[in-house]
Amino acid sequence: MGRVFVAGSINMDVVATADRHPRVGETVAGKQVLYFPGGKGANQAVAAARLEAPTTLIGRLGKDAFGAELRKFLGAQGVDLDSVRETPEAHTGTAIITVAEADNTIVVIPGSNGLVSADDVADVPLVKGDVAVSQFEIPLPTIAAFFARAREAGATTVLNPAPAQKMSRELLALVDVLVLNETELGLLADAELTDNDPYERIADAARHIQVNRAQIICVTLGKRGVIALVGDRFVSIQGRNVTPVDTTGAGDCFVGAVAALLADGQPIESALGYANVAASVSVQRMGAAPSMPTIAEVSAALR
Ligand code: ADP
Repeated sequence: MGRVFVAGSINMDVVATADRHPRVGETVAGKQVLYFPGGKGANQAVAAARLEAPTTLIGRLGKDAFGAELRKFLGAQGVDLDSVRETPEAHTGTAIITVAEADNTIVVIPGSNGLVSADDVADVPLVKGDVAVSQFEIPLPTIAAFFARAREAGATTVLNPAPAQKMSRELLALVDVLVLNETELGLLADAELTDNDPYERIADAARHIQVNRAQIICVTLGKRGVIALVGDRFVSIQGRNVTPVDTTGAGDCFVGAVAALLADGQPIESALGYANVAASVSVQRMGAAPSMPTIAEVSAALR
């Protein structure tokens, strides 16, 4: 069995709830303050670890209370944190979220995530059969260095280009499995896409960005499920009919599950099918990292 290596962000999400949002310059009394471990890298690592893939996270935390708290939480999920460095130059990545009137505002301060460097990924002990995973909340040159190393070692690279950002053709060419939603696909393909678009439009955009036939493009479409370009054919997996409670982290659950199954040596079609079920379980629970399912919970959903 291979190991999953996730190079990515680790954040503390600080959520304030209130009856209404303050206007600029105004102060309102809030109701609650909640702290959630987050960051796409951390979420995806937790998703893979809960599915019992040996998982290592590569990232940076500040020398502060949030950093200590996140290390404790991630360690308890079974994520190996030996490659998570503590950095005195910046605070732990933090998202300040206000929830009111069924809507939210978010300010993200990357902090220590912005300092994850090519040096941090230079010694990652990747070998053939491992899976290297990343997202766009750490510097792109770091991701390129990480994937170049993974390719040299014969590992599989999985990129989740979120939050949506353009990337160079050189970076895209280092990706074996690209997992993205319709917004991210639209940006990369220069097309306006929504998750209600006909499959044909999404398929065209996926074909447009595919670097070569060996590259797998997997587009997640929320409750509609997934459509993936594998070689020159499309694999479509129907979304499961569930009642969502909180879809935060659904994409991260999907990516972590795909990585876990690929590290276990499963073919991509099985990995996508399993990830679709795992993500459908995660949307039925609150939170991102805390909503990631275990193998037993995915099995129960399949019965
Ligand atoms: P993102 O949050 O990155 O936009 P999606 O919303 O596409 O990601 O969700 C990722 C995956 O989670 C979907 O492909 C699907 O497998 C699952 N999922 C998301 N929303 C639902 C839902 N309402 N019902 C069932 N599955 C869902």
